[in-house]
Amino acid sequence: MAIDFTMSAAQKSLQAKARDFSETILAPVIPGADREPDPMLAYAKTKPAYIEAYRAGIAMAMLPQEYGGGGLSCLDFTIAAEEICAIDPGFACTVLCNGLGLMPVSWYGTEEQKKRFIGAATSDPAGEYLGAWTAGEPPGGTGGTANFDSPIPTAGIGLTAVLHGDHYVLNGRKKWSSAAGWDGLGANAQTVIVRTNGSVGGTQGLSAMVVERGTPGITYTFLDKEAHRTTSNAFIEFKDARVPVENLLPGAEGNGDLVINRNFAWSGPVAAIAAVGVARAAYEAALKFAKKNTAGSLTPIIQFQNVGYVLGDVAARIESARYFSWRAADYLDKHDQHAELVGAMCKINVTETMFDCVYKCMQIVGVNSLSKEYGFNKYLRDAALLPIYDGGNMGMQRRRVHGVLAHDSFNPRAAMDDETVYFQKTMESIGTVADAYKAPPGAPAVSAATLEMA
Ligand SMILES: Cc1cc2nc3c(=O)[nH]c(=O)nc-3n(C[C@H](O)[C@H](O)[C@H](O)COP(=O)(O)OP(=O)(O)OC[C@H]3O[C@@H](n4cnc5c(N)ncnc54)[C@H](O)[C@@H]3O)c2cc1C
Repeated sequence: MAIDFTMSAAQKSLQAKARDFSETILAPVIPGADREPDPMLAYAKTKPAYIEAYRAGIAMAMLPQEYGGGGLSCLDFTIAAEEICAIDPGFACTVLCNGLGLMPVSWYGTEEQKKRFIGAATSDPAGEYLGAWTAGEPPGGTGGTANFDSPIPTAGIGLTAVLHGDHYVLNGRKKWSSAAGWDGLGANAQTVIVRTNGSVGGTQGLSAMVVERGTPGITYTFLDKEAHRTTSNAFIEFKDARVPVENLLPGAEGNGDLVINRNFAWSGPVAAIAAVGVARAAYEAALKFAKKNTAGSLTPIIQFQNVGYVLGDVAARIESARYFSWRAADYLDKHDQHAELVGAMCKINVTETMFDCVYKCMQIVGVNSLSKEYGFNKYLRDAALLPIYDGGNMGMQRRRVHGVLAHDSFNPRAAMDDETVYFQKTMESIGTVADAYKAPPGAPAVSAATLEMA
């Protein structure tokens, strides 16, 4: 029996452990942290729970076992993540960033780098270690993130890394990474996407390197945001920050584009299951409300047809979204942790469907869903964030799916037949601004300055 949706005993125990942590240790911390107006203090309120998660083997569960990590399969990581996200996807995002920051080291780093960076992440006696992933950049002019693979050298990623002797010198800005650390002085190690060649486009000129806490020339400012208030996001400025050459991930030299595409698809099922967790919490709250409240009628509103039908639909969609998330994670496990297509399709489909489910739950509860005591405010904010972050569904995930589908080599039955979809550079750059300008044959070349004026 190859297709079997039953969890193994080990998976059930993992789920129980994650649920117990989430409900007993995490849940009491979250309402206060979510209400805290200062983003750095909000984040700090989650630190004791993080240390508990670290000690319980949750915080570094996704990292390879040979370097001290938990060695969880992507599928098992997804099962555990749902339990945390049903309580707080912001906290889960902090944990996810350990993977986003350090899995590229495991994919593109040398043996020495893996031992050094992943080994340090998994052996912190204080249990405070934070990994981070720093790809996103601030908007404005040619700034932004979605067009990182634009063939125009002056568009896309703007953080430059210029080789000077045995160091790279970094100048530019990043935004949204969790790299500020607990104290605003930096995460322990962040994998940063940099432009190492300014004369070529994003499919050739980007690389990835590990920037360590304490590197001079980097400042962090915590961002104040509407959702996931329990995780940190920063505005980062690099001014002549010197990073040793040995921190460049060799497999990622000139391949920063592939790192972005692989990483934001590796996290696809986790972002998807985060949406499942939030929608599950909203559904359970709505069902409970519907069984206890009459809205002035003679029976609890669950007896009304519209309430039962809609909640039934919501339950079905959550169920199918969970299976798609598991399947995409299983695909990662079976295809060398590559799911550039399937991970993206899963993230897009599930996060957008679950957002709709949360709103449907609010419609069922009615006006009282707006009263803070029921928690729908937070469900809605968190559910709205999920399609937008982690490689936004519009500018990044859908564009990648489009690039794969449009490629000559694409087999439309690849996913259903469990074939590996080899993601290639020739699948990139589709739908970037440059493509639109390239389209008319013989059209003059467009500079970044022209685009800014347009
Ligand atoms: C809680 C949270 C955690 C995050 N963690 C991290 C992290 O750890 N590391 C990190 O690097 N980033 C992180 N981010 C940022 C996040 O991953 C974003 O996805 C990323 O910055 C890109 O955003 P974007 O897709 O909106 O791109 P932008 O470049 O900001 O584009 C904005 C919008 O323009 C449109 N658009 C632009 N170009 C195109 C195009 N070619 N085709 C179609 N539409 C287009 C799309 O509608 C897109 O949504 C985080 C964000 C949040 C909220």
